[in-house]
Amino acid sequence: MVKKKIKEIVVGSNNEGKIKEIKDLLPKYYNITSPKDYGLKSPKENGDTFLKNSLIKARYFSKKTKKICIADDSGLEVELLNNKPGIYSARWGGKKGDFNLAISKVYKKLSKLDKNWKSKKIKARFICALTIYGIKKKPIQSTGVVNGRISKKKLGKKGFGYDPIFIPEKGKLTFGQLNPKIKLKKDHRSIAFKKIKRFF
Ligand code: IMP
Repeated sequence: MVKKKIKEIVVGSNNEGKIKEIKDLLPKYYNITSPKDYGLKSPKENGDTFLKNSLIKARYFSKKTKKICIADDSGLEVELLNNKPGIYSARWGGKKGDFNLAISKVYKKLSKLDKNWKSKKIKARFICALTIYGIKKKPIQSTGVVNGRISKKKLGKKGFGYDPIFIPEKGKLTFGQLNPKIKLKKDHRSIAFKKIKRFF
C-alpha cells in the first residue's frame, strides 16, 4: 500500500491561513511541511482555471521537494462582478497580500455597479480546486464549491482572506464570525477534500 509509506506531505502554499486549514483536514500522523520549510517561493500561477493553478503549484513543490504535495487554488466569485475576483482573489490583495485591500476592492466595484447593492442579495461562491501530486502517476484532482452571499459589512476576525464578507447559504454569520471548526465542516476546501481523502 502506498499509504503506509507516506511520512511527509507538503502543503503547497505560502498562505498561512490556507496551510492551517489544509493541515486540519489531513490525518494527524503525517509530518506536514510547507514550501517555507524548504525556502521555496510560490511559482507563477499562469493557468486560467483554479484546477490548472492548483496543478502548477502541486507539481512544482512536489518536484522541488521530492515529496508528495497537496496544493489548492481557491477564490471568491461574485456574480454581479462577472465572477471576479475568481482566480485573481489573492492578487486583489496586492503584492503584500493585504486582504483589507482586496475586500475594499470588492465593495468599491459593487458600489460602482449598483449604489443600492446593500439592499440586494449579492450572490457569491467560494471555489477550491485541490491537486495531490506524487502519490500516483497522474495527479489527483477535485473541486469544491460553497454558495452564499456578500455581507453588507465586514464582520468577524476569524479565518482569513474574504471570510469577513462571505455568508454561506442558509447561514447568518460570515465565515469570519464562524468558529473555525464549523467553517471547516462546510467550506469549499473540505468539500473538495472529502472527494480525495481516500488517497491518504
Ligand atoms: P491562491 O489560491 O493562493 O491563489 O489564493 C486564493 C485566495 O482566495 C486567498 O488568498 C484568499 O484571498 C481567497 N480565499 C480562498 N479560500 C478562502 C477562504 O476559505 N476564505 C477566505 N478567502 C479565501
